[in-house]
Amino acid sequence: MNPLNLRENKPLGLFGGTFDPVHFAHLRLAEAAWCELGLSGVRWIPAGCPVLRDAPRVDARRRLEMVRRAIADNPHFELDAAEVEASQPSYTVPTLERLRSAGQFGEKHSLVLLVGADAFSSLPAWYRWESLFDLAHIAIAHRPGCPVDPETLPEPLSKICRQRFSAASEALSLAPAGSIVNFPMTPLDISATRVRQLLAAGLSTRYLLPDPVIAYIEEHRFYCQER
Ligand code: ATP
Repeated sequence: MNPLNLRENKPLGLFGGTFDPVHFAHLRLAEAAWCELGLSGVRWIPAGCPVLRDAPRVDARRRLEMVRRAIADNPHFELDAAEVEASQPSYTVPTLERLRSAGQFGEKHSLVLLVGADAFSSLPAWYRWESLFDLAHIAIAHRPGCPVDPETLPEPLSKICRQRFSAASEALSLAPAGSIVNFPMTPLDISATRVRQLLAAGLSTRYLLPDPVIAYIEEHRFYCQER
């Protein structure tokens, strides 16, 4: 166990996703957040049973294994298997409550939920989404094709943005939760959907995801057919 959160008294990044499969835009997002936001590290939390989307093509344990292989050589990344091991659907607010109550952080440690712009725009559909801001900050990465314009966001989200947005990432260290920030990330127009399509068509996915993940996918013949 590599308790990044205990190593330094800096905000800890939390990065949830389906990771079906994990790809280089996920890795770049987490790396950019770590260095641009001054995080102690990033904890990756693959969803067991994600909601608000189609069922994943690969089961939770194998998606977890793909993430494990993808982040293995990065000392400021760590893996949280709790959602994969849980039998209930993966909802972000209960996940954050679990982390806060598990005794690792207490109430004072700053936690930062990392999301791509598309995930941020869908926030009002999340279970108990307004409670998120009592539990963590949110940091948004630009995603090609998904602009975040507070003027065009759905009203409850646009209002929350106006109230909580901070242009300075120092806000993440001043309180344990409650701010919205964004951070620069080299735009990478990669999606797991596109990776699955390429694999189903028998085409190369090299340079879209790490080689150890490609080797694992090939070994188990994942995604070789369109659903
Ligand atoms: P799918 O194509 O199956 O919907 P995905 O590529 O969007 O998958 P997810 O596991 O759903 O991957 O995403 C996890 C998180 O990573 C989300 O917050 C999402 O916004 C973010 N993300 C994924 N791809 C990118 C990208 N290319 N640029 C920025 N953020 C991204």
